[in-house]
Amino acid sequence: VVDMVRDKADILDVVGRYVQMQRSGKNWFGACPFHAEKTPSFSVNEQGQFFHCFSCGRGGNVFKFIMELENLSFPEAVFRVAELENIELDAQYSPEARADGQRAFESSETGRLKGLYKMAADVYHYMLTTAESGE
Ligand code: ZN
Repeated sequence: VVDMVRDKADILDVVGRYVQMQRSGKNWFGACPFHAEKTPSFSVNEQGQFFHCFSCGRGGNVFKFIMELENLSFPEAVFRVAELENIELDAQYSPEARADGQRAFESSETGRLKGLYKMAADVYHYMLTTAESGE
C-alpha cells in the first residue's frame, strides 16, 4: 500500500496545495512552509520526487513532507497523501475500518494496559511538573 501510494502520488501536486511553487531549471522553488523566509529556498525535485530546503535542511519524500507539516505519524501520512491525491485504498484501510481497528485494539488486553500506562504517565507528569508535592 505504501509503495502504491508513493508511486501514484505526485510530490509537486501535494506540496503545491500548501506552497506556491515556481519552476526554476530542473527544480521548483517556493517559500519554506516550516519557517518564515523572504527568499524561497524550499525546492521540489519532481523527477526524484523529493523536497529539500536549502535554508533549514529539511528534506525527504512526500510522506516526510506531510508528516512534518501536519505533525502526523508515518501511517497517518500515507493515508493523508492517499486522501489528497484521490488514491483509492482497499476497504480495510478506510477511515471506518481504521476506527474499528483502533476500538478493537483499545479493548484488547494490550490496548487496555497501554491505556493504563498512559494514565499513570499523565499522573506522574502532572505531579512532577505542576503539583507542589512534585517539587
Ligand atoms: Zn526550510
